[in-house]
Amino acid sequence: MKIKEIYCKSVLSKSGIYGVDYALNPYTGCGHGCIYCYAIFMRRFTNHEERWGEFVDIKINAPTILSKEIKKFQRGSILISSVTDAYQPLERKYEITRKCLNVLSKYDFPVTFLTKSDLILRDLDLIDEMNSEVGFTFTTIDENIRKIFEPKASPIEKRFNALENIENKYIFFGPILPLFSDSEEKIREAFTKFEEKNVKYVYIDKMNLYPNVWKRIKEFLDHKTVIEYQKIKNSEEYPILLKKRISDILKDFNFEYKIGW
Ligand code: SF4
Repeated sequence: MKIKEIYCKSVLSKSGIYGVDYALNPYTGCGHGCIYCYAIFMRRFTNHEERWGEFVDIKINAPTILSKEIKKFQRGSILISSVTDAYQPLERKYEITRKCLNVLSKYDFPVTFLTKSDLILRDLDLIDEMNSEVGFTFTTIDENIRKIFEPKASPIEKRFNALENIENKYIFFGPILPLFSDSEEKIREAFTKFEEKNVKYVYIDKMNLYPNVWKRIKEFLDHKTVIEYQKIKNSEEYPILLKKRISDILKDFNFEYKIGW
């Protein structure tokens, strides 16, 4: 992993995501190494020759820049992080996210977190004082599958344990992994766990095999699985059937949800 400390010119950017005004990304690149990572498109905006997942740029002046920028921006909602994970392993040492929270805690901007790491628990002293909600991403609740798809993110059990400690919380269930977490049985198991955690809502999304995501994911899956994924990728029926399956299962659960397609 190539690690580089960089100086950014801006850290709070206007967001194109529905319901989110600003995005804050303290890192470019991510050490969680998810094999389906959608943020792979970011590589072309860097000067890195390394492959996606093999470098992280640390915006070491992000807290200072944020303290200047936030004074100029109108109050609005902030998503941490929209592109890469603000609680990826390097955050333990660098604490850039924590230092940014120290700045944000002086303002009343609503902040939404989304992570795959229980490192976020370290910052609950600040997060609990903020107008905030914390989301954990799950693509599966099977630890063996998690190890294949998200090798360096927190284990499933640690994410669930972390949720126990958070009051205002939600779950992002996605991307649902074709063949690995998309069967009725697997989805039902996941929803049962989610309901136990008393989350405010669950956002559900399918896998989008964008060209650069597909190119990368193929390298990690065995030949037979790649052939099956290829069929799913080309199938117009798959998303329709998956949505129907999920909608039917949801009738047995009480949490609020949104299906993203
Ligand atoms: S945690 Fe998110 S940004 Fe990091 S590798 Fe995984 S999918 Fe990509």
